[in-house]
Amino acid sequence: MIFIENYSAAKKFHNELMKCWFLTKLNGRYNKNTNDSGHNCNKPDCPVCSIITKRDTKIPIVFKDFLNYKNNLEILIEGKPNDLRLLNLKYKKLNLTDLESNIIKDFFVKSTYENWFQPKHGLKFLELLNYNTCVYCNRNYTKTIKDVNGNKVLISEFDHWFVKTKFPLLAISFYNLIPSCHSCNSSIKGEPKINWDRALRNYIHPYLIEKNEYFSFSYINKSMTENNVKINVKKNSKMDKTLKLFKTFEIYNSHSSLELKDLIDLRFKYPKNYIKTLFKDTFNSRLTEKEIYILIFGVEVEEKDYHKRPLSKFKHEIIKELLKEK
Ligand SMILES: [Zn+2]
Ligand SMILES: [Zn+2]
Repeated sequence: MIFIENYSAAKKFHNELMKCWFLTKLNGRYNKNTNDSGHNCNKPDCPVCSIITKRDTKIPIVFKDFLNYKNNLEILIEGKPNDLRLLNLKYKKLNLTDLESNIIKDFFVKSTYENWFQPKHGLKFLELLNYNTCVYCNRNYTKTIKDVNGNKVLISEFDHWFVKTKFPLLAISFYNLIPSCHSCNSSIKGEPKINWDRALRNYIHPYLIEKNEYFSFSYINKSMTENNVKINVKKNSKMDKTLKLFKTFEIYNSHSSLELKDLIDLRFKYPKNYIKTLFKDTFNSRLTEKEIYILIFGVEVEEKDYHKRPLSKFKHEIIKELLKEK
């Protein structure tokens, strides 16, 4: 679990894009030649206004009024997680018919997120966010290869913190788009145990940085051949609950056991602490600590950079411990 920092460029890109998208979908596109009323930001490079984007005529009037009321649209686009939760409660109070709810769900999840934002703007958004690995597991990259109509293409993967099956309205809200990997994205979805009213109090939201919520990786040396991953975390803390929700221990203990074994072998298989030798004798005079970590282990060493390469937090913390061993 990694917190997301320094996201202002991605947020600016997302907010401008979404404002034009919603205003055009709700009100149509302004054209001075034909005098069509509606929205147009007139920026020549706007991905929405520079092309002919059409009004969505199926959107129910009552819902349009809801979005136009006060700053509801703004909250929908860039509201903080708790404001999104409150907006969704207000939306529920509209008591829409099933038909109306389905139209809105389709508009947000299918037309806006799945068919437009993710395929057309997801990669750019991810690049601006500059998070290469999944913030939940730090094991996999956030870009995956998908087969679209027989063509393998690179796509961005996002988890919806408020799941889009239950919160379709929030399918495109900035603070609900979490750079994640395919496996974390599909495993949490439909999690039946989550009490959504209390979810923000129980679980970490990656955009809401909480300095007192942290954890570290360690290991238990059970025998010459068997080692277990260990996670140090304050019991029943938000971090603890979040790691449990994402099965972090299970994932690391099973899938990352090979990486752990490699590191422990380096330390214990050879007569000397070979890890220490690498650091102290072999490279130390020529390379910085950071360079050694990247060159030998392929990981970043500063917490703020962990998200750049898979397994950085895990390997860095295990290696630090192995270096201490006599
Ligand atoms: Zn525009
Ligand atoms: Zn993941």
